[in-house]
Amino acid sequence: MKDQAYHPMTDIDGTRNGMPDETNLHTLLEASDNGCAIVDHHYCYVWVNAAYECLHGAAANDLPGRHVAEVVGEEAFQTFYRDRLDRCLAGEPQGYRTQRHSPTLGWREIEVRYHPLQGTGRPGTQVGVVIADITERRSLEHEVHKFMQITHLNPAPIAITDTQGQIEYVNPAFERRSGYRRDELVGDALTRLSTGNPPETVNREIWESVEAGNTWVGELENRPKNGDPYREHTLIAPLENDDQTIINYVAIKQDTAALRATQESLASSVLEDPLTGLSTRNGFSEALRRWLDDNGWPDNGVVLMVDIVSLRDINDAYGYEGGDRLLVEFSRRLLEVAGESSLAGRIGGDECAVYVELARDTSTEAQLAHLIERLSRPFALDGVAIDVAIRMGCSHLDRTPRSAETLLREAERALFRHRAESALPWIAYSESLEAETQARIGLTRELRSALQNDEFEVHFQPKVDMATGEVVSAEALLRWNHPTRGLISPGVFIPIAEQSQLIAPIGDWALRRACQHLRAWRKAGLDLVRVAVNASLVQFRSGHFPERVRAILDESGIEPCQLSLEITESVFAKESALLLEQLRVLREMNVRLSLDDFGTGYSSLLYLQHYPFDEIKIDQGFVSQVTQDSFSVNLVEAVRRLARALDAEIIAEGIETADVRDALLAMGIQFGQGFYYSVPLEAEDFRWLLERGRQLPLVESSGSANWKNE
Ligand code: C2E
Ligand code: MG
Ligand code: MG
Repeated sequence: MKDQAYHPMTDIDGTRNGMPDETNLHTLLEASDNGCAIVDHHYCYVWVNAAYECLHGAAANDLPGRHVAEVVGEEAFQTFYRDRLDRCLAGEPQGYRTQRHSPTLGWREIEVRYHPLQGTGRPGTQVGVVIADITERRSLEHEVHKFMQITHLNPAPIAITDTQGQIEYVNPAFERRSGYRRDELVGDALTRLSTGNPPETVNREIWESVEAGNTWVGELENRPKNGDPYREHTLIAPLENDDQTIINYVAIKQDTAALRATQESLASSVLEDPLTGLSTRNGFSEALRRWLDDNGWPDNGVVLMVDIVSLRDINDAYGYEGGDRLLVEFSRRLLEVAGESSLAGRIGGDECAVYVELARDTSTEAQLAHLIERLSRPFALDGVAIDVAIRMGCSHLDRTPRSAETLLREAERALFRHRAESALPWIAYSESLEAETQARIGLTRELRSALQNDEFEVHFQPKVDMATGEVVSAEALLRWNHPTRGLISPGVFIPIAEQSQLIAPIGDWALRRACQHLRAWRKAGLDLVRVAVNASLVQFRSGHFPERVRAILDESGIEPCQLSLEITESVFAKESALLLEQLRVLREMNVRLSLDDFGTGYSSLLYLQHYPFDEIKIDQGFVSQVTQDSFSVNLVEAVRRLARALDAEIIAEGIETADVRDALLAMGIQFGQGFYYSVPLEAEDFRWLLERGRQLPLVESSGSANWKNE
């Protein structure tokens, strides 16, 4: 590159006629923004200007006479500069770009030129160095490049024209939409694509607008290279330079048809579920509002919120395709029961809503029972008839008019309540249910802060060898010491904790606290074999429960065999591979597993053998009846045989009287737990009991134990 700046350098000793004299040249070079220097064949600076000194952070007149290596560093000099200087001294100009750190200006991007100076008449004796600071220019280039890329990648067609409307640039989206290549368009008028429709007046309007510096927005009709005309939403705006002179125009387009299609599909997806074609929640609420407006207030109407309980199982067993087929079939059934109104909606993944007007001469109960029966008829999938289990919350319209949204919310509240109390076929919304729901919501909120506020306690109930009355282990039972309501039973707050996902941290806390107590007792030489802690099925859902248990055992320093985990039988209503796997891992760790409340769930004796239980706890409902009811006697007998076959121990829970204990002993049951022996005790009281080493019950009476009442 022939750089004008170098010529004066070559003429520095004034050999060329007609050029400025040396003093003027000097003044010019000193004033230059470019750093200039002369280096001799010993690689020493002969002369530098102020810009050069500034770039190197050198003081005025500091550089002349110094070696280049002193300024750039010995290693850089040897590996980079020396070679270039040598070549230049041999007559070959050099140029390179690099970055340099200036003590005053920070990192700068520079362009350096070396030019051979023939000052003394002998070529190659000096090097003229010119350094241009290109930092700003480069950053501007980067900016331009970035915006060019954005324009290039933009899915909207974009064209840039000169001030005459001749195309200078089109992006790939423009090429795709118009069907023309860029080189076919550049230099042509942008109006070339116009179909001439809208007429000339619109063209004039556009020009008037943009020439006045304004943006024009409107619809234009264009014709692609091959194909039918299309309408485009177009924005045309002037581009100005620093002094507000218009230098270009930009046109940004959007296909109106595509835009409309997107808007329409968005609008319909808000109102219609694509899988079932039923309304979405918004769509259902809107349609119900219209129906109620058009039909007065039919006080025999009900809004039902239906939960398809089986959907998750079907998804698990048959994949989402199976689940989708169930949903499609179920929506058909919903529309059938909706009848004339056709008001049915899919509210969430497995939740649907339907509006039904009931007959006035038959009871609501009977009609809803029939409706449930119609909705839950078996459904054929891959040749297998699958039962469809549902839950339902119901809101009656009755006489008080409410909004469609309120009806939906009421039905949702009722369904929510149903989930907690699943024995009923359906639940109707009522004011008391609302109060209960509110109380539940309040309790959930308070439960969230109960851990931080240290409001939980663990109480211990002895498990006793009934033949000797000796305490062999203890069950840890959680208590919530509520600041205003007093002690709250786990029967109340555990289900809330399970629903709100709080059970994991609360369960961890109970486990950790129970283990800590056991360790303290054993350290004090108290002879307690193990502690039992209740675990909820929800704690197994993450699939990592055994790891949590291991971490807590490690942390509290007790052996896995000193821990027993009690898991309620009802959770085994359906077999779960995830649960089974985790139970096996726990068992391999040597943690003892206990099946709690046996007799209340639906365990088939057959599948029990797949689960690795060490202990079966007979539920207190049967235990309390063994002196009166032959069914309970038979059940206890059957469990005893089953336990023997599974090589598991049996423990009877809820023993309240000596008679029951005697009956159980007579039936060969060795271990027991219940108020007869002791109510659950605070940790300190339980420790006191262990220290005494006394047999239970402490005071025997013919009725229930009277040692201590909670
Ligand atoms: P569970 O594991 O079956 O515990 C036995 C329940 O029966 C305890 O109720 C205990 O106080 C009570 N009980 C003991 N002996 C007798 C008796 O002779 N007669 C009668 N009528 N009841 C007796 P509690 O403490 O109210 O616990 C209720 C349930 O809450 C427990 O049933 C257990 O399922 C759950 N639970 C307690 N603590 C925890 C915990 O830390 N985690 C989890 N997930 N659940 C817990
Ligand atoms: Mg238990
Ligand atoms: Mg139990």
